[in-house]
Amino acid sequence: MRHEPNGANPVWLVGAGPGDPELLTRKAERLIYTADIVFYDALVGPDILSLIAPKAERVAVGKRSGRHSKDQESINALLLAAARAGKRVVRLKGGDPSIFGRSMEEIAYLQAEGIEVRICPGITAASAAAASLGLSLTLRGMARRLQFVTAHARKGEVLDLDWQALADPESTLAVYMGKAAAEDVSRQLMAAGLAGDTPAVVIENASLPNERHLATRLDLLPLAVKTGIGDGPALLLIGRAMDVRAAALAARQSQAAGHGK
Ligand code: SAH
Repeated sequence: MRHEPNGANPVWLVGAGPGDPELLTRKAERLIYTADIVFYDALVGPDILSLIAPKAERVAVGKRSGRHSKDQESINALLLAAARAGKRVVRLKGGDPSIFGRSMEEIAYLQAEGIEVRICPGITAASAAAASLGLSLTLRGMARRLQFVTAHARKGEVLDLDWQALADPESTLAVYMGKAAAEDVSRQLMAAGLAGDTPAVVIENASLPNERHLATRLDLLPLAVKTGIGDGPALLLIGRAMDVRAAALAARQSQAAGHGK
């Protein structure tokens, strides 16, 4: 850990990856191990928390939909107090801190208080899911665009997404926090013109021993989510590249046509 000229330690926002501790970066592992205090989200599992030094403090500040958790303001205040006390502070977030992690709220607050913040990236759920499925999120001629969206809507509010853009048949769509909205997502994408038989996968606990997935199609996705998935974090992946056989075939054809290099 580098020290600042005035002796203050930066606060590190650290990506914990999708769950498998071997998917942590070496930097994340070192930062976790050398921290005096670690604030962690609900998505960060016990295998990763076990890397925290025994003498260090650990504070759960997790948010899981529907469950009570510390609000953003109190998290900010806790981070600031720990940094002001001269501690080496790690703020551990699931996946990559820059993807649906509300990182900027913490960064802006701490910076306004004169605290330096640094970020250690992590492997995001979509990358881990693709790896588990043996698929590529992008695919020559089939998925030229990758779109990450969150389908988390505040209570009582409708999902306000650009369905027309998301219904692009040449893209792969990764929907974070999409379980509750699966029905809406499926219906809106089809209404915007995406075919009902577009391949879709729901994957839960990607990279963890209790990982589960169901490969289906867009029109059947809500059913798959309802019947085949538990209450772990789950990602929806939608697009032609999400069909294992079709994707492999397309790749072979592209290679045969001389585009393989
Ligand atoms: N920053 C995180 C995302 C936070 S939002 C990242 O980069 O991955 C939380 C959502 O991420 C969950 O609702 C779920 O949709 C997804 N997610 C996180 N970990 C996951 C996992 N191991 N398997 C499947 N989805 C996961």
